[in-house]
Amino acid sequence: MIDNSSILSQLNLYAKLSELHDENPFKYKSFSTAAFNLKKIKEPFAEMDLQDLLNIQGVGKSALNAIELIIQTGTFPALEACLEKTPRGIVEMLNIKGLGPKKVKVIWEEMQINSVSDLLDACRQNRLVETKGFGIKTQADIIKAIEFSLTSQGKWHYARLMDKCNNFKSELKSIFPGFMVEYSGEFRRCLPIINRLLCVTTIDLMELYEYLEGESIECSVNDDEISFLFEEQVPFVFLCTDSMSFEKVLFETTGSEEHLKKIDYQPNEFDIAGSEEAYYESKNIPYIIPEQREGRDELVYNIDSQHFVEYGQLKGVLHNHTNYSDGLNTLKEMADYAKSQHFQYLGICDHSKSAGYARGLDEDRVLQQMREIDDLNSKMAPFKIFKGIESDILSDGSLDYDDSFLSKFDIVVASIHSNLNMSEEKAHERLIKAIENPYTTILGHLTGRLLLMRSGYPVNHEYIIDACAANHVCIELNAHPYRLDMDWTWIQYAQNKGVLISINPDAHEKMGYHDMYFGTIAARKGGLLTKNTLNAYTLVDFENYLLNRRKIKQL
Ligand SMILES: [Zn+2]
Ligand SMILES: [Zn+2]
Repeated sequence: MIDNSSILSQLNLYAKLSELHDENPFKYKSFSTAAFNLKKIKEPFAEMDLQDLLNIQGVGKSALNAIELIIQTGTFPALEACLEKTPRGIVEMLNIKGLGPKKVKVIWEEMQINSVSDLLDACRQNRLVETKGFGIKTQADIIKAIEFSLTSQGKWHYARLMDKCNNFKSELKSIFPGFMVEYSGEFRRCLPIINRLLCVTTIDLMELYEYLEGESIECSVNDDEISFLFEEQVPFVFLCTDSMSFEKVLFETTGSEEHLKKIDYQPNEFDIAGSEEAYYESKNIPYIIPEQREGRDELVYNIDSQHFVEYGQLKGVLHNHTNYSDGLNTLKEMADYAKSQHFQYLGICDHSKSAGYARGLDEDRVLQQMREIDDLNSKMAPFKIFKGIESDILSDGSLDYDDSFLSKFDIVVASIHSNLNMSEEKAHERLIKAIENPYTTILGHLTGRLLLMRSGYPVNHEYIIDACAANHVCIELNAHPYRLDMDWTWIQYAQNKGVLISINPDAHEKMGYHDMYFGTIAARKGGLLTKNTLNAYTLVDFENYLLNRRKIKQL
């Protein structure tokens, strides 16, 4: 079944191509608006009644028709016609962040460059500097974007693979009952980005090989290994072993080399211990959960693994959007669903007024939403909705409302959404000013990165975390699997400085709450303790935290 993101990227591609070829602006704009708004739908289009999509803002008949055709045939005629008259290299160029159709048109027609590698060469020769509409900065940005897209090839988001991998494992277990099958390597370590999949199994190599061939999966055998492309793209290796060696092979291939070195791994000692738990015990090391076996700080934590935060321990959901701004669901729908999922509280943080692209709320709309929250709270108690905002950090670092208005909110998530292309110095200037604003409760998505797509603005994490510590500001671990920002590698530093972390889904529809699962995985990987997780606080503790903070800040 074709997934939503593949469908939407075809709509986007068509919008760009038709702009490139000077087609009717109304048409390409409507396709890109439709693709943008449809991003928020999580339910697979292929399983929906497509007519329902017409209710989504900006989705018209022609986009709907295209979606229908893509589901049935994998493409649609208008897109094919555009592709036919466009060189492949130009299509690739359109996928580079920061290169819109207008710029690509100049590169193609005026500079006569039609491949990404030629473009990179031209940049290195400063050829773009002289071209109208470009300049040194654009050129530098293009170089960065191309390099980034090159290193991103052959990598996958953990979240995109998780369900498919787990389903494949269940399938094997049902076909080969009684045999052991377990992922190892990067996937078992829950790295946000996966390069290849590794799976240890006791299934007989030849039987497994025949099964895969029978499923029309082309694979190759080498000693005890079977290699193939999972889902036709991800390198996948099965390590076949017997049940005596299973735990040992699993252990040896789960931890990174550095981890094995740090614990001074000895195969013969593992043979005596017999299991992962017993082995760590024999080494006098507390059990190290697989996701932490990276060879970084995991031995320094020296903490019983039960103290690391778990998804089931989260009591509240902070930082969520409703249809007041760019969310899909109403405030009531968001609240009802949070309550039904046994969360004790919900933080509504719609976009602030300068976020025009996301229907940011002016003061009147905020007050309207606050009245609705009061009303819902009176009916839904003890469940509680907190009044919040995701305030844009403006170019000079100030927030979007004046102090007297900011004081009306229970929580303020301060985030950068505009002018992301900036130096580290500029990023620091903006972030520090926002952190020092007494009303800022949580710093949102710290670097603005999108994994495999955008590297985010440069920041010195120590500097920013220190500022948060000094100003009693929590740091968000944005749980969207493409963000996971702040990165897990900084959690330990933040904890050492006494900074609380909030695992926030940044949900734009109610189902988005479940992204906190990916946030929790990243948090555990970084060693986040339940006691340092803001939204693992009970409702009472969370309210007390906010009260105390106001006292400290004398607000
Ligand atoms: Zn945001
Ligand atoms: Zn947000």
